Amino acid sequence: MINEAMYGLGDEPSAIRELFAYGLARKAAIGAENVFDFSIGNPSVPAPAVVRDTLVELLDTDPVALHAYSPAAGLPEVRQAVAASIAERYGVQATADQVYLTAGAAAALAASIAAVTEPGDEVVVIAPYFPEYRTWIEAAGCTIVEVPAAQPSFQPDIDALAAAIGPRTSAVIINTPNNPVGAVYTRESLGALADLLRAKEAELGRPLYLISDEPYREITYGIEVPWVPSIYDRTIVCYSYSKALSLPGERIGWVYVSDSADDAQAVAVAVAGAGRALGYVCAPVMLQRVAARCVNEPSDVAAYAENRAILTEGLSALGYEYVKPDGAFYLWVRALEEDAQAFSDRAKQFELLIVPSDSFGVGGWVRLSYCIARDTIERAMPAFKALKESYGE
Ligand code: PLP
Repeated sequence: MINEAMYGLGDEPSAIRELFAYGLARKAAIGAENVFDFSIGNPSVPAPAVVRDTLVELLDTDPVALHAYSPAAGLPEVRQAVAASIAERYGVQATADQVYLTAGAAAALAASIAAVTEPGDEVVVIAPYFPEYRTWIEAAGCTIVEVPAAQPSFQPDIDALAAAIGPRTSAVIINTPNNPVGAVYTRESLGALADLLRAKEAELGRPLYLISDEPYREITYGIEVPWVPSIYDRTIVCYSYSKALSLPGERIGWVYVSDSADDAQAVAVAVAGAGRALGYVCAPVMLQRVAARCVNEPSDVAAYAENRAILTEGLSALGYEYVKPDGAFYLWVRALEEDAQAFSDRAKQFELLIVPSDSFGVGGWVRLSYCIARDTIERAMPAFKALKESYGE
């Protein structure tokens, strides 16, 4: 018999992918240059030259060794390179056995959630949040608990989180820099969150894990992204090269389990176990080797910074309200009517593809991905103007 929950997931397209697919069809129908596609987070900056150079070099090595399985957690030398980079960049102790290589942050998150929860537990997320959190939390047999971010900062709302964390809570997921809002959590916010979690652990008599989803860590606009394990011991970092190195289709990332908590070793073992249970073993092996070369490679954020300036200045001039992003490459814009889906649908009439906020767990906003060609953003401005005017504004 077909598993109903799995059928439901397979049958229910994500709002982002649906819009992306609509965009592909529309571009084929009226020409790509006539569609302003702000739907998906596919980086528009090319991967750095070291990626190509490493791949070319790798192709000249012994093919049997090159394409062979790695251990489930990844090649020891690659895990070591990631650990050494973490130790150097964040001034912490880090060893290879705390690192588990995965096919992107998606696999890292699913394994981390499964590792620190039992069916029936609750996992707290801060809304708006990346829609797939729900999928991974529910797949682990847990319940998602949505807590709205503080307004207007979109930092964690400590009082609201305090009210939401209870005897069934096992983990809190944070995402900084944030998709969809672009907020980067400050050291103060993270410190307050850590204080809350420690107090709740004492009150509830159970460990509370902080899963820090960080695929956008390198994409910031002059803002510090604090290293969360240095602030809260029981932290699991989920990282990816998808955005940092513009390799989203190549599927490479990692889980890092902080070693400061009393149960850190057990958590690392459970992450490996969850990876095994989910089939997330031996992450793409050529990309593991590429990642090892790129652990300290800076991200090229200049184009995103420029896009951010053009988009925010253009929308400001038209009177749109938005959250100024400190990181990632998304702009969170207030919809011109309460129903975000209706607003997104109306935007389609002007060939603007913008994602309604509902699937991120809140109503009334839309998300614009600005990791796209600068020219598309510039040429989209008359469409944003016409969209606004269509509301009589
Ligand atoms: N988490 C967030 C917040 C994301 O935006 C994404 C991808 O867009 C992911 C996780 C998954 O990233 P990956 O491509 O590394 O699996």
